[in-house]
Amino acid sequence: MEQELNRLRLEAEQALTQVTDREQLENFRVTYLGRKGGAITLLLRQLGAVAPEDRPRLGQLANEVKLQIEAKFHDKKQELHSERVEDLTGTIDHSLPGRYLPFGKLHPVTQVMDEICSIFEGLGFAVAEGPDVETDHYNFEALNIPKHHPARDMHDTFYVADSILLRTHTSPMQARIMEQQDPPLRYIAPGKVYRRDSDITHTPMFHQVEGFLVDQNVSFADLKGVLTSFTHKMFEQELALRFRPSFFPFTEPSAEVDIACVMCGGAGCRVCKRTGWLEILGSGLIDPEVLQMVGYDPDIYSGFAFGLGVERIAMLKYGIDDIRLYYENDLRFLQQF
Ligand SMILES: [Zn+2]
Repeated sequence: MEQELNRLRLEAEQALTQVTDREQLENFRVTYLGRKGGAITLLLRQLGAVAPEDRPRLGQLANEVKLQIEAKFHDKKQELHSERVEDLTGTIDHSLPGRYLPFGKLHPVTQVMDEICSIFEGLGFAVAEGPDVETDHYNFEALNIPKHHPARDMHDTFYVADSILLRTHTSPMQARIMEQQDPPLRYIAPGKVYRRDSDITHTPMFHQVEGFLVDQNVSFADLKGVLTSFTHKMFEQELALRFRPSFFPFTEPSAEVDIACVMCGGAGCRVCKRTGWLEILGSGLIDPEVLQMVGYDPDIYSGFAFGLGVERIAMLKYGIDDIRLYYENDLRFLQQF
């Protein structure tokens, strides 16, 4: 019994030096100090079987061994605990500020496009989106631009296959919607368009918002009213508008619309090339040919259409002179919006 107790003491001390974490420590506690099957408990139970004269001495020894093992166990526990606290305080500096999580923002062109859409929605227009890959029919033919029409030259089209192309404007939505619905119609069609063109004011992909309205007795005055209302909201000032006669195959009459220069207020500056005016969009009354092609009676219905470049509006609104800045993805530029 005495030998057994001394052996147990050594064994426990030895075992405890191997303990490196809390799980091992718990295993140690169960093995040696556990109340049910712990080695000490089992030995103490055997005391009843030893000779009565040896009992006090062995009992005292057994208690000593038990207390010693318990004391070492608690030391170990304390040691592991401080190691853990040290680990934590070593890696965490509580005085550090919180971690900064960067959050994304909408691209300036998207912001301006959303704003354009919301202004027209306020004027009663619905928003419709269509495919970027379009057929020759909707991009040209249905808009009164037959094959070999010189107006096709202005478009510098990317062809995907014969008669399949990347749309050169968002006007195809006009034909698509008119084919499927009867007047009255009020729609805007925002989206990406593609042309083989790249310089300080052109990128091969850019954004357009097409708008059109078809009803009875629609006149140029209605077009002028809608566009005036739009520009005043968009540029947050009552800018003068100027309509210049122009030509588009799908509108008749057609007009380019200028606004008084947002930089100089019409006095003349570098941005407006000393003219005091800035061109912002093309427009006109929908050509009766176009109405006829979708089955509307041009004697009953009339309408207007306009198309504006989103990048152009964004450049004027923010005073940016190179369109390519929008697509270089320089965060220093983009973060300003
Ligand atoms: Zn100017």
